[in-house]
Amino acid sequence: MTGPFESGTTEPGAAEPSLTESGAPQSDAPLAGFTTLRVGGPAARLVTATTEPALLELARETWAEGGDWFVLGGGSNVVVGDDGFDGTVIRVATRGIAQLPAPEGLVRLRVQAGEPWDDLVRHTVEHGLSGIEALSGIPGSTGAAPIQNIGAYGQEVSSAIVSLDFLDEITGEVRRMPLDELELSYRSSVFKRGLRGIVLSVTFELQDASGGLSAPVAYAQLAATLGVEVGGRLPIRDVRDAVLGLRASKGMVLDAGDPDSFSAGSFFTNPIVTENFARTLPASAPRWQVEPEEPAVVIPLDGDSLPVDQPERIAEYHVKLSAAWLIEHAGIRKGFALPGSTAAISSKHTLALVNTAAGSGGGSAADIAELARYVQGRVLAEFGVLLQPEPVFLAHEL
Ligand SMILES: Cc1cc2nc3c(=O)[nH]c(=O)nc-3n(C[C@H](O)[C@H](O)[C@H](O)COP(=O)(O)OP(=O)(O)OC[C@H]3O[C@@H](n4cnc5c(N)ncnc54)[C@H](O)[C@@H]3O)c2cc1C
Repeated sequence: MTGPFESGTTEPGAAEPSLTESGAPQSDAPLAGFTTLRVGGPAARLVTATTEPALLELARETWAEGGDWFVLGGGSNVVVGDDGFDGTVIRVATRGIAQLPAPEGLVRLRVQAGEPWDDLVRHTVEHGLSGIEALSGIPGSTGAAPIQNIGAYGQEVSSAIVSLDFLDEITGEVRRMPLDELELSYRSSVFKRGLRGIVLSVTFELQDASGGLSAPVAYAQLAATLGVEVGGRLPIRDVRDAVLGLRASKGMVLDAGDPDSFSAGSFFTNPIVTENFARTLPASAPRWQVEPEEPAVVIPLDGDSLPVDQPERIAEYHVKLSAAWLIEHAGIRKGFALPGSTAAISSKHTLALVNTAAGSGGGSAADIAELARYVQGRVLAEFGVLLQPEPVFLAHEL
């Protein structure tokens, strides 16, 4: 089918979300083929937009009709239920990178939401632009990058975003949202907190790196791999190559030949707890201090110092724990699977849950969710921490 948008088209790979190029176009195809976990039944309706005007039209039509809807990018952070989704899936496959005027030494790029994220990173590296090179190899689309504020190897996309264009479901209108309206924090955003609509494009500001040097390397493992101190700078291309190498060694780049890459990436976020709680954990549990986003509300128990309707806000230090460490020390090893299940812990990375039957077209969201609940239960029993899933669940509960 040709034209600006294609209703019911299901060719995996248009936005390079898929591990393999396969599947004939058909309207009732399982959504599994559009996800990296390769699980999930069909949607009642699946539409794909390849241009921004088509995306606007499809979204407004869908919203006017009422009914449930879901916007899908590369499907690399979603678990779709086995019975499918009784609503409209709007798949974003718009493409394009445009350069905008920018202050000297900086380059601004407006990027369409369906542009595959790693194509954008490669483009910036090839043009000597620094700022997102440590985010090399993350699957998915550019429009989804701000949804959970993607991050890896010491960089977060929040540090490079200037604004985005957003089609708001409530008004049906497009508005430009500057960075400070996006409320980006660790794996979260205003969208994760409930703002519904579609990201149409994202504007980035990058350094026109004279001499082709990267942003300071901010992650110890990456710095060690590159043979520099944390804070050192290297040719951007070297940083990208090192990140891609590290990611591949953990099954964290999409690779049809690597069964460990049929995942949704890290399945659990690193828990953020109070420093007091962290003291109850073994001293060997890794922890990193983080600034509290909002100081905790504390009501003095003596009742003298403050009336209870004016609670004092005391900044309490928080620390981020390693979800991988907690899982491993709850006794769950790489490669672990429940008996008879098609879901397993990746053999390379404790945080990734993989669909071991993906290669033969099998696997189920039910198995993934069962393993996720098992991991949560073991970590809760051992350490009192309830791990939170990172992927979005569509038509399925954890
Ligand atoms: C092997 C692997 C490694 C990964 N490594 C990392 C990593 O290092 N760091 C990291 O942060 N993440 C990582 N991820 C997770 C994932 O790649 C990112 O979250 C990515 O940004 C998801 O993009 P997507 O287009 O696939 O989104 P999808 O999975 O299609 O959607 C995810 C969410 O975003 C919403 N969404 C998608 N597009 C839009 C849009 N245009 N407008 C509004 N909402 C939208 C969806 O509705 C859904 O809620 C990894 C995943 C895999 C499979």
